[in-house]
Amino acid sequence: MTANDSAAQAAATGAGQRRGFGIDVGGSGVKGGIVDLDTGLLIGDRFKLETPQPATPEAVSKTVAAVVREFGWTEKVGVTYPGVVTDGIVRTAANVDKGWIGSNASEFYSKALDGQQVTVLNDADAAGLAEERFGAGRDNTGVIVLLTFGTGIGSAVIHNGVLLPNTEFGHLEVGGKEAEHRAASSVKEKKDWSYERWTQEVTKVLVAIENAIWPDLFIAGGGISRKAEKWIPLLQNRTPVVAAALQNTAGIVGAAMAAAVDVTATGK
Ligand code: BGC
Repeated sequence: MTANDSAAQAAATGAGQRRGFGIDVGGSGVKGGIVDLDTGLLIGDRFKLETPQPATPEAVSKTVAAVVREFGWTEKVGVTYPGVVTDGIVRTAANVDKGWIGSNASEFYSKALDGQQVTVLNDADAAGLAEERFGAGRDNTGVIVLLTFGTGIGSAVIHNGVLLPNTEFGHLEVGGKEAEHRAASSVKEKKDWSYERWTQEVTKVLVAIENAIWPDLFIAGGGISRKAEKWIPLLQNRTPVVAAALQNTAGIVGAAMAAAVDVTATGK
């Protein structure tokens, strides 16, 4: 079944559902899908295209538009970006093409989509929204911090469904070193560390964050959270840590949620 078929099937069966559309732009793939905003589940399959290289704003916009068109989606779209985004404008590019800095990503995407409204938000913020509402944080009230461990470390802070956008805990200095240079999962790979060795560094990062904002729960996301049983029990910090539950749909779901309520708008 193609994405088109599944979207058509979903349209035929989904009366009454509140739907959104989210796209997760990652280093290797641009993945999108239609989201049931009441359950956090995808309606039909997700569709993925390779991230163009170099991943410039122009090139990625075309790929994003191609993913949206695959579904024939004509309403609001949410798209993730792996850096700080304020009011649609990209402010940082730690692990991506520097050409993004200063660009109005919402406008870029919207133009590529013939004027469709596009909300762009930080990738970890999107994952955090989805995990808090539908995933590992769904039974928790209080302050939740989601951290994604990958090439860098992404962060999201959510309190009872409300996101504090653009926290960048991956760039906190911890013991004289940026947190993501100390404890991203890419560091574990590069140094060929065991889980025991790596979790010593993750613990330092978690302690720095919990001493600063005292969350009730940490959710650990990113690819390495699929092997959570191997390392979460080794952590020595005080706040409970649980593995992300939605895995590879969190970014899509959170982006769709953000577009539906435009969580990134400052209201200015
Ligand atoms: C960026 C964050 C992003 C994280 C994961 C960090 O380097 O600064 O904004 O969420 O990587 O992609």
